[in-house]
Amino acid sequence: MATQAKAPNIYFEEFASGLKDATAPDIILKTIESFGDRVALCTSFQAEGMVILDMAARTNLGIRVFTIDTGRLPEDTYDLIGKVRDQYGIKIDIYYPDQDELTQFVSKHGINAFYRSVSLRLTCCEIRKVNPLNHALEGLDAWITGLRRTQSETRAGAARFELDTTHGNIIKLNPLADWSYEQVWDYIRNHDVPYNKLYDKGYTSIGCAPCTRPIKPGEGLRDGRWWWEDGFPKECGIHPGK
Ligand code: SF4
Repeated sequence: MATQAKAPNIYFEEFASGLKDATAPDIILKTIESFGDRVALCTSFQAEGMVILDMAARTNLGIRVFTIDTGRLPEDTYDLIGKVRDQYGIKIDIYYPDQDELTQFVSKHGINAFYRSVSLRLTCCEIRKVNPLNHALEGLDAWITGLRRTQSETRAGAARFELDTTHGNIIKLNPLADWSYEQVWDYIRNHDVPYNKLYDKGYTSIGCAPCTRPIKPGEGLRDGRWWWEDGFPKECGIHPGK
């Protein structure tokens, strides 16, 4: 961490309180200035992640960007990754599931096991998403995400600054935590930010292809994720609910 002499919680309190009134672009700027290559943006290239990526690019300071290729992403997401790389001229680090772990799981349970039970779905998410994330965060002092409070009930308690005890007391920044969905899309339109074309087809949250569908009238923003599960949190384990 930037101030090694201080305990993580003390450093976190000081860092967060110093930025408590900062705007999202200011948080991103100060975070990159403070942590350099020990902070990274974690993005699945959804609308929120694109806003943060655009804000980070505008600092001209350079930022590490990583994503997790679960192997089951929609073609539109792969298209967007290529477009982002070309348009912003940035390197994107891509993390993959452990091949042996995945092979064992698929051999035992089948390629689409996630439809059969919540337990198998969570195991698939763990292998394809959570474990690669843990690997990606190794050696970092902070990470930035596109989490917003109004995305779902499980995210209602998300703060702009969190001490991430799951990953060794590093800082987790959610600069858009208090943004609305409309603010996100206003930014995308006003700044001509590239976005996943699935949003034009009724999707409001985009993950793996077999586990994501457009929402229906009256549904919540994340109700198109794992839609066959009844009453279970719409989370994969990357962002534990609050
Ligand atoms: Fe597996 Fe679906 Fe989770 Fe992707 S979203 S990791 S395919 S269960």
